[in-house]
Amino acid sequence: MIKRVLTTCPYCGVGCGFYLDVRDGKIVGVIPSHSNSVSKGYLCVKGWHAHEPVQHPDRLKKPLIKQNGKFKEASWDTALDYVAKRLKEIKDKYGPDALAVCASARCTNEENFLMMKFARAVLGTNNIDHCARTCHSATVSGLNQSFGSGASTNSYDELPLMDCILIIGSNPTEAHPIVGWRVRTAIDNGAKIIVCDPRRILPAENADIFIQHYPGTDIPLVNAMINYIVKENLHDKEFIKDRTEGFDKLWEVVKDYSPESVEGVSGVKASLIKEAAKLYATSLRSCIMYSLGITEHIVGTDNVMAMANLAMVCGHVAKEFSGLYPMRGQNNVQGACDMGALPNVYSGYQPVTDEAARKKFETAWGVKLPSFAGLTLTDMMLKAIEGSLKCFYIIGEDQLRTDPDTHMIERALDSLEFLVIQEIFLSETAKKADVVLPGASFAEKEGTFTCAERRFQRVRPAIEPISGKTDADIIAELSRRLGYDMESGPKKVCDEMASLTPLFAGVSFERLEENGLQWPVPTKDHPGTPVVHLGKFIRGLGKFVPVKHKPPAEVPDKDYPFILSTGRILFHYNTGTMTRRVANLFREYPRNFIQINSDDAQRLGIKKREKVRVETRRGKLEVLAEVTNKIKPGVLWMPFHFSNEPTNVLTNSAFDPVCKIGEYKACAAKIEKIK
Ligand code: SF4
Repeated sequence: MIKRVLTTCPYCGVGCGFYLDVRDGKIVGVIPSHSNSVSKGYLCVKGWHAHEPVQHPDRLKKPLIKQNGKFKEASWDTALDYVAKRLKEIKDKYGPDALAVCASARCTNEENFLMMKFARAVLGTNNIDHCARTCHSATVSGLNQSFGSGASTNSYDELPLMDCILIIGSNPTEAHPIVGWRVRTAIDNGAKIIVCDPRRILPAENADIFIQHYPGTDIPLVNAMINYIVKENLHDKEFIKDRTEGFDKLWEVVKDYSPESVEGVSGVKASLIKEAAKLYATSLRSCIMYSLGITEHIVGTDNVMAMANLAMVCGHVAKEFSGLYPMRGQNNVQGACDMGALPNVYSGYQPVTDEAARKKFETAWGVKLPSFAGLTLTDMMLKAIEGSLKCFYIIGEDQLRTDPDTHMIERALDSLEFLVIQEIFLSETAKKADVVLPGASFAEKEGTFTCAERRFQRVRPAIEPISGKTDADIIAELSRRLGYDMESGPKKVCDEMASLTPLFAGVSFERLEENGLQWPVPTKDHPGTPVVHLGKFIRGLGKFVPVKHKPPAEVPDKDYPFILSTGRILFHYNTGTMTRRVANLFREYPRNFIQINSDDAQRLGIKKREKVRVETRRGKLEVLAEVTNKIKPGVLWMPFHFSNEPTNVLTNSAFDPVCKIGEYKACAAKIEKIK
């Protein structure tokens, strides 16, 4: 007898829906949900295999406590008592801000709400953050300044009906495949596609215009498009006058960015920039899709605001069939931000510095809360090295493989007095821990995820937690041991979250049963919001924020003559902790590799599939070479999914000063054949 459980994919931010088939307490397969409004019966190769890591023999089943450098299995009571005791000792000795929590974009909204409550109400610190810091914090900070809300403006359903889709710094075919399928449908319906990317990615093959600019030159490129649009009188004057402010200040800056003037820095012919600008501006239904190619730079926030400027100049935002689609990486990175797993805001982006908001949470939780913003993940690592951060409780993240400059992260983790990791596998970061608490996968828990189109969707348990506890159980039990009783039932947590969060006040499990709801959902009878900023931007008027080109923190020189960029491939996900445990995915790409242009390869005597040494100022790595014409001479590209050949030993931890995102997408490197 098969039990079929409807749930949401645990991989990327697209948020596809599928059923898990369960027989005799084991998940035996995945079946797409045809009625799911996101995926409409389609799944990518990762989704089809999403159940396999859940029951993998490597799953952590018991808590582990390190003694004399070796892990020993412990009972739940022993491990939780010990963790609670150490958290209390460190708090008593150094104060609450010596502790920090890293929440998880892999966990549910309800669990993230509990994590931020645990950090704030139980530990007494706003030192809570999560991996959005390293992927879309620039979207949150950039779009907040431009529009007043840092999320996608429109819905997936509009994509197939667009006239023009400008894809920049995003590879939907590989990183967000079911959105890639929507783009493909738009092409079939006659849409024009502009792809701007340092690599000739798959969507470029079907593009009407392909712009291959150098990594780190998005601002000159986009400013030049705006320059041409205004000079050719293609801008939307009425929209600019009625709906925005600051256009004159924008023009003061972009007037110096003629397409001809940016040819050298971007490596793109002026004629191509003009063609793209004209197509985007003059199409009736135009949108911009971007991702980490835009955000993961020291100018990530500025890059995002450049996109917002372009959209507002053309009036291609704040209406149906237009807007900006920041494609989110992790399954619930949108939700983790929304739930306040950030150092400066509670759920629904209510600032911790806002007295009224703080008082509301203090009254509901019955404790005094800290009144100043906590540390970002980037700052937590620096403070750990400095010595003022003593303890880190990390849930469902593998910083030693995800964060830029692995050696620096290792130094940070080694500097801590106490490290607790809550994980489903013994990740590289977990190996550093004093205590490892075995968490639960998506298939063992109840709750919600929020996907990249701001849609809350239900997550349902197919099997019992393999370790005996969900992540919510673990947080609540730790909390109780620290003297604070916390409700951990997902439905009740969702209700509590809604009661404290105006943006999501209308959300409840009952209302999400069918196809979820897109926020804002301010009341219990509100139908959800497929398009935001209609009639009025959330901040009132859309704000043009002029941005200027600033080169990456490291540019090529005689010692490190290449620009190294990084990204994702279709068959793996993030650090590969789950996908490398799926035979069909591992078979496709069992090892790391580096793409090098064929002219460069020939000059350096490097042949296809030959082992090469790649080196930056931070580290070196030996990987296989993929010789290709998909990237320009002088550029190198690597994925980061392989823990034994970890790309992030090479990347640069230089960060955007506003949102603190690291510069994964451009650093100086050298490459040599191994003799
Ligand atoms: Fe899962 Fe993303 Fe693939 Fe959909 S596109 S099945 S959400 S990995």
